Parts: sequence; C-alpha cells; structure tokens
Amino acid sequence: MKFSDVIAQTSVKQQLQRQLAADRVPHALLFAGPAGTGKLPMALAMASALLCTARRDAEACGACPACRMTASLAHPDLHFVFPIVSKGSADAAVSDLYLKEWRQALTENPYIDYAGWLGELGTDHKQARIYAAESTQILRKLSVMSSQGGYKVMIVWQPELMDPKAANSLLKILEEPPRRTVFLLVSDRPERVLETIRSRTRRIDFPRLTEADVAQALRQRHALGDEDARMVARLCEGSYARALQELREDAERAEDFDLFVLLMRLCYRRDIKELHRWADSLAERGRERQKRFLDYAQRLVRENFVYNFRQPELNYESRREADFSVRFARFINERNVIGIMDELSLAARDIEGNVNARMVFFDFSLKMIVLLIQ
Ligand SMILES: [Zn+2]
Repeated sequence: MKFSDVIAQTSVKQQLQRQLAADRVPHALLFAGPAGTGKLPMALAMASALLCTARRDAEACGACPACRMTASLAHPDLHFVFPIVSKGSADAAVSDLYLKEWRQALTENPYIDYAGWLGELGTDHKQARIYAAESTQILRKLSVMSSQGGYKVMIVWQPELMDPKAANSLLKILEEPPRRTVFLLVSDRPERVLETIRSRTRRIDFPRLTEADVAQALRQRHALGDEDARMVARLCEGSYARALQELREDAERAEDFDLFVLLMRLCYRRDIKELHRWADSLAERGRERQKRFLDYAQRLVRENFVYNFRQPELNYESRREADFSVRFARFINERNVIGIMDELSLAARDIEGNVNARMVFFDFSLKMIVLLIQ
C-alpha cells in the first residue's frame, strides 16, 4: 500500500509525508475517524514508507525487498494487534492466531471495517476484542531488535477494544518508547481509547470521504458506470467500506435472483436431475450465505403474491425482478403462498440446525414442484 493508493484524505497524506521528509515521525500516531474513511490503508501506507529501504519523496518505492514484504503484510518489523474472538482459552487468545485470515482479508480489502472483519472471523454476532494475553505478545515483539536495522512499526487496530491489561502494557511502552519504533493506533471511536494512551499519541483526524471521492474511486477501481457509482456513493455515508459492501450485496442479490429463477424453471419442467444439481450448487456455499438466499426467496415469493393485486405502491422490486413477475406472479396464489413460505422457513431452520444442506435444498425443491401446481 502506498499513499497514492489511499483514496482522497489529501491533507492527512501531506501531514504524514512532511513528517517523513523531515525525519520527524512521532513515536505514536492515533488515526481517528469514522469507519471506512481510509485509516487502515493510510496506516499501511505509512508503515510501507517507514520500512522501505529506497524511499523517494516520502513515498515507499514499492519495489525493494522491504516493500515486497510489506505488500504481503509479512515484513518481520511490521506487527499487528487487532481484535479477535477467542476459540479456546483466553490465556492464549492473541491476534497472531488469526494472522493468516488478517493478511488475506487486508490484501483483498484494506478498507475492511469492523463488521467485515467479524464476518471474516465467522462470528457475526459475537463481540471481538484484544485480550489480556496480547500484552506479553506486544512486549515480546518490541523487545526484539529490528531485523533490518531500521524502523519497527506496530499497527494497533481498534485499540478501544483492548482489555485493560493489554492497554496497560501498551501504555507502559508508550511512556518509554523504544528507539525507532512507531505505533500507529487506528480507531473508529477514539473517545473510548484510554485517556492515558490518547495523551501519549499525536492524533490525526480523518474526515468522511465526499460522495465525489467515493464515486471516482468506484469508477476507477471497480469499473462502475457514472450513474451506478454516484448512486452507491450517495448511500455509503462517506465510508468506502460501506460502498464495497453495497457492491457485494448487489452482486449477491443478482446471484440470488438467478438461483430463484432457475429453481422455478426447473420445478415447472420437473427436471429432477437438474434440481439435484441446483441443490448441490447451493450446498457448496456457506451456511450464512444459504440462509441469506432463503431470506431472499421469501421476499420474492411475497412480492410476487402481492404483484397479483396490481397495486404497484405495495411492490418493492428491482427492474429485473419486476420483469420476472410479469410472467411468474400468477404461479403464487392464495392456495400455495402460505405453504411455500412455510417450506422456506423450515429449510432455514434446518440449515441453522446444521442439517445436510444438499438434502435440505433438494427436499425443498421437490416440495416446490407440488406447491407450484396448486
Ligand atoms: Zn521500497
């Protein structure tokens, strides 16, 4: 990650690059501001610049061995502390347990936000935190000499989620910082970071991204058309993480629609062999994804039932969905709508209960054949 890869935030970049150029980088910086505004990418860009051995104009060269290691988030002098969900004993709950997932998630999306990271951890409902066990890790990592003889950088993501013991270790180090060690604290809610820690850092505020900045990034990085880019930018409230989430959801809705249409077509044709294949393709996805499909199917069934009443103000369908309803809605009527909804709920409950997904979806499709002719 280079400064030039970070979306907008020009004044923050200038401030950091001035510090680099003058070789006056504070030993602890607190990047503060709303989620999705680029604090983590900026921390990675700053770390790259600090660790690069051929830095030019206060920017990482992107080509030296150090830059290559930083790019894969595997530089021995770059350390990460981030919230996790403990699997076993809390005594052993340290960020490094999830280092592989962390590297992968950040490589795919350096704009990842807390909710996105929880998704990666596979624990949407649980609270992640930085456990007390992290404190010895922090001390150990920083007591080792820098392997390349230059800076050591520690990025602490969401320090507001630190257990008091870990926070105290960090505080102790910040009070007597080792030479050429830079702490980059990245916080969505800086007011929740211990005041004593905050007072030892130089705070840099990140404003929300403007709609124009988000729209431009979507056009350049995701090849979105002008109108689509503007629409997503308007919805995301200055968070690029939200904008990317929106894109993913759009893609998922399109996929769900295709799956639903295919199912109805195969049921209508009573194509058992292909229905088997359809069930298999759904079974290959994760449970959460399967449940989201079933939610979507419920919504579409409801929309098609309502469509029959010819009251467009009651319908909430996309263009593609509405085109489909023109031909399909008549198959959903007062005789089968409750039965179909019940089957969808049952399937969702079975998926939740870890019943074999292949069986659940195939079974469901067979029941749909019967229900659709009513
Ligand atoms: Zn370099």
